[in-house]
Amino acid sequence: MTDNETGLAVNLKEVQKDYSAETLTPSKEITAIWKQVYKALRSEFGEAVFRSWLKSLTLQAQYHGTLEVSVPTRFMKDWIQTHYAKRILEMCVEKSSDIKRLEIVVVQGAMHEDDEASSKNKKANENSKQTPEKFEIASPLDQRFTFDSFVVGKPNALAHAAARRVVESAAVPFNPLFIYGGVGLGKTHLMHAIAWMIGDQSPEKQVMYLSAEKFMYQFVKALRSNETMAFKEFFRSVDVLMIDDIQFIAGKESTQEEFFHTFNALVDQNKQIIISADKAPSDLVGIEERLRSRLAWGLVADIQPSTYDLRLGIVQAKRDQLEADVPDSVLEFLALKVTSNIRELEGALNRIVAHAEVSKNAITLETTQEVLQDLLRSHDRRITIDEIQRKVAEHYNIRLSDMHSARRARQVARPRQVAMYLAKQLTARSLPEIGRKFGGRDHTTVMHAVRKIEELSNDDASFAQDIEILRRALTG
Ligand code: ADP
Ligand code: MG
Repeated sequence: MTDNETGLAVNLKEVQKDYSAETLTPSKEITAIWKQVYKALRSEFGEAVFRSWLKSLTLQAQYHGTLEVSVPTRFMKDWIQTHYAKRILEMCVEKSSDIKRLEIVVVQGAMHEDDEASSKNKKANENSKQTPEKFEIASPLDQRFTFDSFVVGKPNALAHAAARRVVESAAVPFNPLFIYGGVGLGKTHLMHAIAWMIGDQSPEKQVMYLSAEKFMYQFVKALRSNETMAFKEFFRSVDVLMIDDIQFIAGKESTQEEFFHTFNALVDQNKQIIISADKAPSDLVGIEERLRSRLAWGLVADIQPSTYDLRLGIVQAKRDQLEADVPDSVLEFLALKVTSNIRELEGALNRIVAHAEVSKNAITLETTQEVLQDLLRSHDRRITIDEIQRKVAEHYNIRLSDMHSARRARQVARPRQVAMYLAKQLTARSLPEIGRKFGGRDHTTVMHAVRKIEELSNDDASFAQDIEILRRALTG
């Protein structure tokens, strides 16, 4: 029997209603019917279910064949909606065929009269009474973050393939899928893409995506309102759980504890879990050891810093999306210069496109440089020691590993000193930090290198020119 056949419908849409307007106080008749139904809930669903979920149901309003009942939280609403609402509606219809719909709304502080806990909470809730709850449990999904708009390249190939596997496999392929990488490299994009696609393919699946921050917020909130039971049941009932930026719960012990149990419960039920973080599980500081090791159980996929090719692919795709007239030379320039992360790269392209629209000028390399002046300059300040080592090794045709090695042969020792010198000049790193990056050398070694290179530059013009070429190559 479908909902259509019976003319019954459980309204699933979220209602944010103003109770002072438009709604009708329930009639005596309806109130009496609701009382009977409410009473019957206990025998219908059993004492445990009644106590955990249904007890707080309160008749709020009646309009156009809709019976509106409230619960105090979103957890309860969602749970009742998926598990009991249809049957409750049927029970109402059995009493009166005028009732066509059941709508569950969230009204904070809407506890049933004989609920003892509620009378205790009543005072605290008085102010917020009858204010529909504002937040959603899940974080919203960005419509732009789909697989279609995700450009695949070497740095993200593994994470992308893993994400596809999760979506395409009938069974859970690995649990959890752990995606990690630096800021703005596409972790959230991939997670949203998974959520969208599962939603498309299997609408019946409950996919829950939220940031670790939000998870914690919900948990703390549940603790405060004595609702940890509802919280637990809610999270344990989802089919796919995705928690973004798990590093956020570092040092938050009780949240970690709760997450650990939720995690285990879901894995036991063979439900897919997907986690992202800025670091590999083993490198997460402030996360309990047992949780860290749990996180590494499934597939750990990293997203590496982007390459020139990937960046170029991304700005090309973005240009097509924007349908903007951006010359290839400008895209190449952006891919070359804005290397920190993809978010910044996209931001740069958006800026030059927006600027061209406002100024009504065509986009050229010159206008681009002008518009992005501040960004390019600030980017110059963020040269990394890794980049310097790579560039210098390339320039002198030695192996990158020699930057860290103990070899003292002149042909590797000198370039290493050059790299140390440039690291001191072009980054804000301290001498000990630089030393550490060069195979754990002492800061006095770095100091010595800096002096040596200054000396050589003073004495030897062609050497000085060499250094200048390197500096230019690095600072653009
Ligand atoms: P993270 O969560 O890793 O910090 P995001 O997923 O928020 O990064 O990505 C930052 C921005 O870069 C988003 O706008 C995203 O769409 C874009 N982006 C990242 N990687 C790619 C990619 N491979 N293809 C297309 N866009 C990408
Ligand atoms: Mg993110």
